[in-house]
Amino acid sequence: MAENEEIDVAIVGAGVAGITAALYAKRKALSVRLFESKALGGQAAEAVWVENYPGVTKAKGAQLMQRMSEQLKEFGVEAEEAAEVTGIEKKGNLFELDINKGEEKLQAKSVVLCTGGKYRLLNVPGEKELYGKGVSYCATCDGPAFKDKTVAVVGAGNSGANAALFFAEICKKVYLIEFSEKPGFDSVYEKPLKETKVELMTNTQVVGIEGEKHVTGIKYKDKSQEEKRLAVDGVFIYIGMQPNNELAKKLGLKLNEKGYVSVNQSNKTSMEGVFAAGDITGQLAQIVVAAGSGAIAATTAFEFLKGLK
Ligand SMILES: Cc1cc2nc3c(=O)[nH]c(=O)nc-3n(C[C@H](O)[C@H](O)[C@H](O)COP(=O)(O)OP(=O)(O)OC[C@H]3O[C@@H](n4cnc5c(N)ncnc54)[C@H](O)[C@@H]3O)c2cc1C
Repeated sequence: MAENEEIDVAIVGAGVAGITAALYAKRKALSVRLFESKALGGQAAEAVWVENYPGVTKAKGAQLMQRMSEQLKEFGVEAEEAAEVTGIEKKGNLFELDINKGEEKLQAKSVVLCTGGKYRLLNVPGEKELYGKGVSYCATCDGPAFKDKTVAVVGAGNSGANAALFFAEICKKVYLIEFSEKPGFDSVYEKPLKETKVELMTNTQVVGIEGEKHVTGIKYKDKSQEEKRLAVDGVFIYIGMQPNNELAKKLGLKLNEKGYVSVNQSNKTSMEGVFAAGDITGQLAQIVVAAGSGAIAATTAFEFLKGLK
């Protein structure tokens, strides 16, 4: 691609929101580029099963994202993978994007931020040291290596329950550990969790992860406040997400109190020409919502660009 190329819309992040925004922008005959720092799919690619996206009765998250990618290619857009937008600046009426720290610079008339979220850390001793050695944040990515082993899933929200069910199919023993008195997962998870080998431990706080070359166990405190140990081979942490808001901060966009990008109903941010969609806006973190807001953001970007002509 040419240095200092100028395009209509640069979309950052090829999760559900970014893919949908690219699809809608391209159908409006805009020149589009879609940048993805990792691989296409975002969080949805990690879902073991997706059952709540209308029109798709049941599909593996990775399969669903593959189908979205194919649909996008039909429209002539290919997500550029391993292409992180490392800088973004407003220069006059244009935005200058820096890809992979100087590998490429391009000018865009508008930007749609779809940077989603990342895993929240437990911040306990052993977590960083044993990352990749039994500590993980992604059951779909790293889980298969734990076949016939014992794992602890930390955090009993929907993502944690989803991970625990995945492990129940392959592991010897699965603990689902929750800090609060009650788990946060939806009622649909109750029955399958009971039917499988998952042992739910509430009022339990993980205070450390043990092991040298690999995880051997966790240290935790329950209601008794005594420190106890549990032997496990893997620890999968699902205690929520935080926004990937670095670019939004660089642009000086208005963020809400939790660090998510503030948008109006048309997915406009506080800066003219910049739109945001999906989990980065702090909306309900669901595929259908990310898709809907990606569509709105691209449509609003189109309206904005029409006004520039
Ligand atoms: C395990 C799991 C299971 C789930 N199951 C379901 C389910 O069954 N049903 C449902 O509706 N929802 C589910 N969700 C939630 C749903 O997946 C998300 O709400 C939705 O996918 C968010 O999409 P997004 O495009 O906004 O963000 P993300 O999916 O987070 O995508 C953002 C993308 O932006 C990229 N990125 C970030 N910064 C940059 C940068 N600077 N440059 C380039 N790229 C960048 C990231 O790498 C990422 O690929 C699940 C989530 C998880 C984690």
